[in-house]
Amino acid sequence: MRIAVPRETAGGERRVALAPEHVARLLRRGHAVRLARGAGASAGFLDEAYAGAGAALAEGHAEAVRDAELVARVRGPSLAEIDELPRGAVVVGLLAPERSGEALARLAARGVSALAMERVPRITRAQTMDALSSQATLAGYKAVLLGASALPRIVPMLTTAAGTLAPAKVFVIGAGVAGLQAIATARRLGGVVSAFDVRPAVKEQVRSLGAAFVEAEGIAAEGRGGYAKELDAPERERALAVVAAHARGVDLVVCAAQVPGRAAPRLLGAATVRAMRPGSVVVDLAAETGGNCELTRPGETVVEGGVTVIGAVDLPSAVPFHASQTYGRNVLALLEHLAPGGTLVLDPYDDIVGPMLVVHGGKVRAAEGP
Ligand code: NAD
Repeated sequence: MRIAVPRETAGGERRVALAPEHVARLLRRGHAVRLARGAGASAGFLDEAYAGAGAALAEGHAEAVRDAELVARVRGPSLAEIDELPRGAVVVGLLAPERSGEALARLAARGVSALAMERVPRITRAQTMDALSSQATLAGYKAVLLGASALPRIVPMLTTAAGTLAPAKVFVIGAGVAGLQAIATARRLGGVVSAFDVRPAVKEQVRSLGAAFVEAEGIAAEGRGGYAKELDAPERERALAVVAAHARGVDLVVCAAQVPGRAAPRLLGAATVRAMRPGSVVVDLAAETGGNCELTRPGETVVEGGVTVIGAVDLPSAVPFHASQTYGRNVLALLEHLAPGGTLVLDPYDDIVGPMLVVHGGKVRAAEGP
């Protein structure tokens, strides 16, 4: 299989779809990899490392994708890049299918197939391909570091000759993949950690990480596939009240609550933020889907009543080395699934490929959420 790795062009994107170690493995399997020069540079992977692993280097996008059967990307291609793709190629990436109608239509018109990494089914067999999990884990980690460095205090308890410093209280809202990693990271830093979620199964996971679970009586919103479902109006009111009562006494709030295919649930009202202690920090990982906090502005930091609200976007891209290493591992596992005998086979009826295949046969397939 001829595989191309372009340089990412989406604003602020620092990851690369495959690291040199993945390229080496693909070559051992008999595949060929052509990479645009500089593709891995912002993630810390130099052209020499790729060349050493056996990749051919190309001068730009058009040359990198020429003759490619599969184009491995982190983010979806721009419209101009789509026009350079060879007919019949397959593009793999975090394509944001819900928000990329125009690009998907252009891919279809170009006769290119597209596999959205967001749509890897969350089944045990596909765990090694689960890019949402690999990237959310890093986002959860980085969110705590961002929050900790914006705090006017340290996180751990410290006993010194100059007195004892109390540990920071960290509250994680939404203890899914990102939230659980945020809890673990805040604990490692020495914080006193609590968490809230609407899925009852989460309670034990939170407690096993050494955090307290904040209960909201009567809310059990487990939806399909292990995800949460949207709360009804009375449940929403109760969740808001529970979060408001708890958030007042904490130093750092990490928001990571999401409902697939929907706007992020609003859990931290402006009044609650204003009632928090001055110097407190909110890091909102749900910023891109509208934010869990009412004051969140995606990609911006706002200060309201002495409370800093960070609208975190693209956090995996802020740790591009490990984000590329894990994302590349996900892509590699997918490629091994797509070409078990060395030749690319795109089977729309396969239970992993089927849900991921958002463009095929000149048509845009399902654009709805999982
Ligand atoms: P997600 O990003 O959709 O949601 C993040 C969290 O927000 C979830 O824990 C959800 O319950 C919570 N949430 C939603 N609405 C909320 C509200 N109103 N208030 C508070 N919390 C709210 O989901 P995710 O983190 O990608 O994954 C969630 C779960 O999916 C995992 O914990 C796991 O059970 C399952 N999962 C399974 C696999 C697998 O089997 N391969 C892989 C990954 C995840």
